[in-house]
Amino acid sequence: MTTLPILELTAAPPAGPRGDAGVAHVARGSAEPAAGARHRAALPPRHLADLDLIGRRAAVAALGEREFRAAQLSHHYFGRLVRDPAQMTDVPVAARDRLTEGLLPNLLTPVRKLACDGGATRKTLWRLHDGSLVESVLMGYPDRITICVSSQAGCGMGCPFCATGQAGLTRNLSTAEIVDQVVWFAGVAASGAVPHSPARLSHVVFMGMGEPLANYPRVMQAIRRLIAPPPEGLGLSQRHITVSTVGLVPAMQRLADEDLALTLALSLHAPDDDLRDELVPVNQRWKVADVLQAAWDYAARTGRRVSIEYALIRDVNDQAWRADLLGRLLTGRLAHVNLIPLNPTPGSRWDASPKPVEREFVRRLRAAGVPTTVRDTRGREIDGACGQLAASEIEPGSTTGLASSRGRGRKAEQ
Ligand code: SF4
Repeated sequence: MTTLPILELTAAPPAGPRGDAGVAHVARGSAEPAAGARHRAALPPRHLADLDLIGRRAAVAALGEREFRAAQLSHHYFGRLVRDPAQMTDVPVAARDRLTEGLLPNLLTPVRKLACDGGATRKTLWRLHDGSLVESVLMGYPDRITICVSSQAGCGMGCPFCATGQAGLTRNLSTAEIVDQVVWFAGVAASGAVPHSPARLSHVVFMGMGEPLANYPRVMQAIRRLIAPPPEGLGLSQRHITVSTVGLVPAMQRLADEDLALTLALSLHAPDDDLRDELVPVNQRWKVADVLQAAWDYAARTGRRVSIEYALIRDVNDQAWRADLLGRLLTGRLAHVNLIPLNPTPGSRWDASPKPVEREFVRRLRAAGVPTTVRDTRGREIDGACGQLAASEIEPGSTTGLASSRGRGRKAEQ
């Protein structure tokens, strides 16, 4: 029925309510788990961030401890950003190791840390329990710290201009694997290590590896952990969380029903179906008119302005007539356009539009009354900008292996 390059996964989720796509390895464009998938199908270890507070109490009791220890452990993890048992001095020594081993297992092992912009942009490449690799990027600004998180290892959407999409999908991340990326960087922010920025991480964008709405149950659980006040969660504002999608219309409709004030970012990249069918293969199933209607429905339900993401690609989607067509589609809508100068990826034939072309594109959209901004290219030096994640670490077709260093002048974080 669909020509989507993402296909049904086979393993059960660790904590999702709907028993949908799990952790089995699925190659891009393949109906079957790829060879070697089964040894990676083991679920990530259970973590307190997979559970709500009620679930944590039950888990603590099952470990032979008093239920109130769940709140204590949660306070250390979400409130104090502490996971070292030695620092949990309000918990009896005998219980600390049992509780941390049972509910705070190590989920993310840093493989490489990179930094640029004087330490205001930081990328960490993580290895997960099964060898899968994902990345997170922190961006510090004078008024906020934002983290870009991954929701899947790899991505099955197959957008040809995107580095992440070239390696295919390995698996969905668990709720805790998503949350732990945020908590880890919240600790970095709290340490004061991000110069000229607040010490509190405040914004989260689901724009790292993966299509968030293809991992819907876990992404939503992760968001609920992030917005729940401590000790249940991290206490972030709903309005400071952005969920991006290439346009999975049923999931967009479901998101509108969640009664959350999240920002929706729609990766449109082309205003016409002929080109979008190529740039964003999911468009072969849900057309431009369908995804825009779902976006307007979301805006109407939530009152939130939709961000229309548009990677500007030289001689591909940057023509004046496409700017005018996009302007006509968006005029009068609760939307703004975020133009993204395409980031270079190794061996790619796609390139960013020249600056004069970019300026003309912006001018035409604004002339149509559409608020338009051009995204900064933070992290380009460390392959941390949009579309570059993992490209220099993961060889296409090899979703877990580290490629050899390409010597691109990256600076290791101290
Ligand atoms: S642009 Fe987004 S949805 Fe498309 S392949 Fe890349 S990560 Fe996946």
